[in-house]
Amino acid sequence: MSETIEKVKCLIIGSGPAGYTAAIYAARANMKPVLYQGTQPGGQLTTTNEVENFPGYPDGITGPAMMMELQKQAERFETDVRNGWITKVDFSGDVHKVWVNGEKEIHCDTIIISTGASAKYLGLESEQKYLKLGGGVSACAVCDGFFYRKQEVVIVGAGDSACEEAHYLSKLCTKVTMLVRRDEFRASKIMSERVKNTENIEILFNTETEEVIGDGQVVTGVKVLNNQTKASHLIPATGFFVAIGHKPNTDIFKGFLDLDETGYIINAKPGTSKTNIAGVFVSGDAADHVYRQAITAAGTGCMAALDAERYLAAKDSTFEVSTSNYN
Ligand SMILES: Cc1cc2nc3c(=O)[nH]c(=O)nc-3n(C[C@H](O)[C@H](O)[C@H](O)COP(=O)(O)OP(=O)(O)OC[C@H]3O[C@@H](n4cnc5c(N)ncnc54)[C@H](O)[C@@H]3O)c2cc1C
Repeated sequence: MSETIEKVKCLIIGSGPAGYTAAIYAARANMKPVLYQGTQPGGQLTTTNEVENFPGYPDGITGPAMMMELQKQAERFETDVRNGWITKVDFSGDVHKVWVNGEKEIHCDTIIISTGASAKYLGLESEQKYLKLGGGVSACAVCDGFFYRKQEVVIVGAGDSACEEAHYLSKLCTKVTMLVRRDEFRASKIMSERVKNTENIEILFNTETEEVIGDGQVVTGVKVLNNQTKASHLIPATGFFVAIGHKPNTDIFKGFLDLDETGYIINAKPGTSKTNIAGVFVSGDAADHVYRQAITAAGTGCMAALDAERYLAAKDSTFEVSTSNYN
């Protein structure tokens, strides 16, 4: 059974760029935020070696180092950063309740959800091996495409995002081979036509990945199988991009928050961080199937903290909107 119930003014769920940015703003506004890190302290960026597109790091920085800096900045303003996984929520009443690790119960005036999304992978052993080594497997063309300039890459996927990513890569790479499992795209006509009409993209329909080939350190090619003829062959490539979708980490909010068909949280009022429940706000990839970047996650983290601050001020006349976030 639960111990004494804790009361919190602002609870932040998640420790990626969205969560830590929300924490910096909420702490400076005197909201005394408590942040739960979840099972991946620092979020998705801790799985990448090089971040070159986050402003403020002219020489680039590793993902883990960048996330340590964000955590330090949040803690400098006395964010209470804790280990723990939010296992259950109840937003049905006036008080927003959450449970940590299935035990501890917390009642919150405001909640900022920054639980992110996870890229889907094929699950092949060779794919996971080179993903972990940082040796040429990626699920984000915008993040990593630059590292494959003037090289040949392979991309897997058949939807709009896969077409968009293939097209993005075609501007950087000498050749992009696109593997489509069925005999047609799932993407819209306009997106698939754009890919078909791009000279340096070769599309292989009815084709699946058998194995990502490498030298033990980096990817050197991809072995593919035609699922109709059963013939397999090797495509030389230094990069293997997987564009088969993302899964937002939002299962625990089902039944309380409005989610789209993939599970992304829907903003109740576009241009804000508000959800359909007053006092519950969302930031970062958990609500973003379009941009999915660290900088956009950080930006919406800031929005969520400012929205939460204004919500508290309107609800509680003793809570004053801080001026520290505006100067
Ligand atoms: C390999 C890779 C490389 C990338 N490279 C770049 C890049 O170079 N530049 C760039 O801009 N973007 C890059 N991205 C994208 C970027 O990482 C994401 O857009 C960004 O991290 C999203 O931030 P977020 O705060 O929304 O969520 P995330 O970073 O996904 O963090 C989610 C957090 O929520 C926590 N969490 C989830 N569920 C719970 C729960 N129930 N209870 C408690 N905590 C929970 C997790 O533990 C985690 O801390 C990359 C992504 C990947 C996978």
